[in-house]
Amino acid sequence: MMLALDRFCDGELSRKLARKVFGLADQVAERLGRPAVFMEVCGTHTVSISRMGLRSLLAGRLELRSGPGCPVCVTDHQEIDMMVNLARLPGVTVGTFGDLVRVPGSQSSLERERAGGADVRVFYSPLDAVAFAEANPQKEIVFLGIGFETTIPIVALSLAQARARGVKNFSIFSAHKLVPPAVRALLSDPELKLDGLILPGHVSAVTGRRAFDFIAQEYGLPAVISGFEPLDIMIALHELLSQLLCGEARVVNKYTRVVREEGNPYARDRIAACFAVVDVSWRGLGVIPQSGLLLRETLRDFDARFKLNIELFPPRHPSGCACGEVLRGKLLPLDCRLFGNVCTPVHPVGPCIVSSEGACAAYYRFERSLLIGGGN
Ligand code: SF4
Repeated sequence: MMLALDRFCDGELSRKLARKVFGLADQVAERLGRPAVFMEVCGTHTVSISRMGLRSLLAGRLELRSGPGCPVCVTDHQEIDMMVNLARLPGVTVGTFGDLVRVPGSQSSLERERAGGADVRVFYSPLDAVAFAEANPQKEIVFLGIGFETTIPIVALSLAQARARGVKNFSIFSAHKLVPPAVRALLSDPELKLDGLILPGHVSAVTGRRAFDFIAQEYGLPAVISGFEPLDIMIALHELLSQLLCGEARVVNKYTRVVREEGNPYARDRIAACFAVVDVSWRGLGVIPQSGLLLRETLRDFDARFKLNIELFPPRHPSGCACGEVLRGKLLPLDCRLFGNVCTPVHPVGPCIVSSEGACAAYYRFERSLLIGGGN
């Protein structure tokens, strides 16, 4: 396995393929009269592309835009406010994955609440949260469930485990979201002109390739499910450009070492057993039909939205924050006037600079020199 992975990091192979990609990109640009524009939907791809310096290498030949594939970044402002309010409830311990605690809401963040005495914990897995609840029966443990198809099955498993062990002081605040409906919403935006998409490898491992067929069938665009190593991304770009040159539009799986055609039906069944699909609001994208998951009525005993009294107030969005436009691929992080001065990873204004998979964080870490150097 190591040997196989090493090949996907092979510098010489990547360089050879990069030369081919450059040639194809030039041909496509000549045919279109402009560089092709591709979106990488997934935050892990955004980080890989930024780390490789691929955006600047391809500048003038091909444009790569980041999409809404970072679960922390797309968690709605009001959902963050509800999470903060949960943390303020007496006797409640709030647990989640790491980056979420630093995302600012209207009045506060989970990190600030923790500094003020709230019990906010980072768990590597919701199963750890179940174990913590079992060991602390005097507390109510709320696990903040964010994430896409990749992380939802383990949350479903934690519910099954809590039920089987009779852990009654454990609940989930579900803010889970589904990627295919968000991609559809993006592509329905007439202002967003894309020529192809790099699709998320991890999400596709659960959904399977066919969940994205609509991209080719309804929008006439090529799309590639890709891994995350340099060679994976070069292969994806090569495929997209080749399809454009041949006038084709297909959804292709180039991450076959992980993604099966049918995805993971067992994981999907586990999700369906616990969650109902509903319309939910995504930060920057608004309400997207059938794009979120709430716990089924049969699991109300484990649903923090029903078990606990969460206060709601109108969300206050930070002025000048361009996260919405960044998440829709309409602005680059460097175009946000707060980037790097008012908004930094240490003093975040929006979520895209907090999450390790956020586009602004990736640009700040790897591509900020473009800004400092005047974009040259
Ligand atoms: S720089 Fe900060 S405020 Fe601007 S889009 Fe990124 S996260 Fe939002």
